[in-house]
Amino acid sequence: MADYLISDGPTPLPQDGCPASQLFNGGDGLTYNDFLILPGYIDFTADEVDLTCALTKNVTLKAPIVSSPMDTVTESGMAIAMALCGGIGIIHHNCTGEFQANEVKKVKKYEQGFIVDPVVMGPKHTVKDVFQAKSKHGFCGIPITETGALGSKLLGIITARDIDFLPQEKYDLPLHAVMTKREELVVARANVTLKEANNLLQTAKKGKLPIVNDKDELVSLISRTDLKKHRDYPLASKDASKQLLVGAAIGTREDDKDRLELLVQAGVDVVVLDSSQGNSVYQVNMIRYIKRNHPELQVIAGNVVTAGQAKNLIDAGADALRVGMGSGSICITQEVVVKPSPKSAKRKKKDGEGEHTSTFMAVGRPQGTAVYKVAEYARHFGVPVIADGGITTVGHITKCLALGASAGMMGSLLAGTTEAPGEYFFSDGVRLKKYRGMGSLDAMEKNKASASRYFSEHDKLKVAQGVSGSIVDKGSVHKFVPYLIAGIQHGCQDIGARSLTELREKMYSGEVRFEKRTPSAQMEGSVHSLHSYEKRLF
Ligand code: IMP
Repeated sequence: MADYLISDGPTPLPQDGCPASQLFNGGDGLTYNDFLILPGYIDFTADEVDLTCALTKNVTLKAPIVSSPMDTVTESGMAIAMALCGGIGIIHHNCTGEFQANEVKKVKKYEQGFIVDPVVMGPKHTVKDVFQAKSKHGFCGIPITETGALGSKLLGIITARDIDFLPQEKYDLPLHAVMTKREELVVARANVTLKEANNLLQTAKKGKLPIVNDKDELVSLISRTDLKKHRDYPLASKDASKQLLVGAAIGTREDDKDRLELLVQAGVDVVVLDSSQGNSVYQVNMIRYIKRNHPELQVIAGNVVTAGQAKNLIDAGADALRVGMGSGSICITQEVVVKPSPKSAKRKKKDGEGEHTSTFMAVGRPQGTAVYKVAEYARHFGVPVIADGGITTVGHITKCLALGASAGMMGSLLAGTTEAPGEYFFSDGVRLKKYRGMGSLDAMEKNKASASRYFSEHDKLKVAQGVSGSIVDKGSVHKFVPYLIAGIQHGCQDIGARSLTELREKMYSGEVRFEKRTPSAQMEGSVHSLHSYEKRLF
């Protein structure tokens, strides 16, 4: 008999790791990197894992991912892509109510294959303008209308064929002199189906099909390249009329009630009350106001990080809670800024700026603990929790879900994608997009809505609670989000949970076990001891 066999009787399985309740009730505030989840038993494949989750009391998603209401993250392009991939986008409010409502409309009106927001020019634009548009957007099939905008009479179209062989001295020619004229165009009426449009494009051997209404005004455009890319989105988040779901952020001031009306008319499904500290009389009143005037509209309240804060918002009627304070990648809310860092000092200063850098917000909570504590309380009222901020890897999403969150909200992880607002630019040869905190001076100077997230009307001094920076090009959400979904499914498989519901049940029953991670364990868990390496994620 082997000498390491110390007993031949039945051996009880030793306790290993600890339940979440023990880990998070120990008094320390923990972030995602401070702990790991111990593996369970696998008897199913990763793609069988069901990621259906409740975004709010009445809205269900097939993927637990939400894009943050930030002006460098979510406008209609991001919201459409997120909803097609199974998540949802929340349109930011650092803009006028009209602009925001129009972005919501674009998502609600979205039909796959139809470009409802095409680049349009007028007859007086020049060939040079088209070349500029081509270098910016990568295409030059541009419809020409009377006013140079959508919704105006179609006059023609400009394509590569019309301008590619023009000598440079003709680049100042107006487009009406070189465009293919309306009489020669193949167009379709507004009620055309995608299939009919496809047939028309094929027979006419054209690349672009303008769609017009009865008055011959341009309403949208169909492009053959887009049709070739046509794919199915089995996870798409849709309402009862099969339109994509979309959310929008608002504040809690009087004029936000006007904004709310515009958003409701545009068909918004969910509103997010956007505040860094949501436990306030303003938010309680706004929830009550919305529930009185639009009882069907789902309201996500927050942000909160304690059960005490959550209580007031749940009592007022919140349909979900957004959790996180100070954990965002661009956030300096928890930070003590004694003097500007060399990087921030590099930023051009404005008059009078600089003397306020000795700030002390000092309030917040490490995100792991915040999510666990709020979710543990809110579940008794059937109120889902969205973990917002600090998610930098797909593993962090799995962790927030394993702590009781229904979904994760992301800013930096989705910034830098093709669908995020803003143009790419190059710095030291790297392709980047801007990403900034809504409490950065940069964002607050653009529109007072952003400042309202952080300050009250009467504050004389705006102190930055966020920074402005840039993020490396991440490619399209249509590739990135499927990678995130597959990653979460693999995480759940390793834990031994076939669905997010099972994951939460097993966490609360103590079957899912957790373990604290020392700083050296964290180093061990990341790539180490290599001279160099390339990190490709998918
Ligand atoms: P990230 O995913 O870590 O980049 O965090 C995004 C989250 O940070 C957002 O959803 C907001 O809750 C929060 N946030 C956005 N702007 C600011 C800011 O300027 N200061 C602090 N937090 C911010």
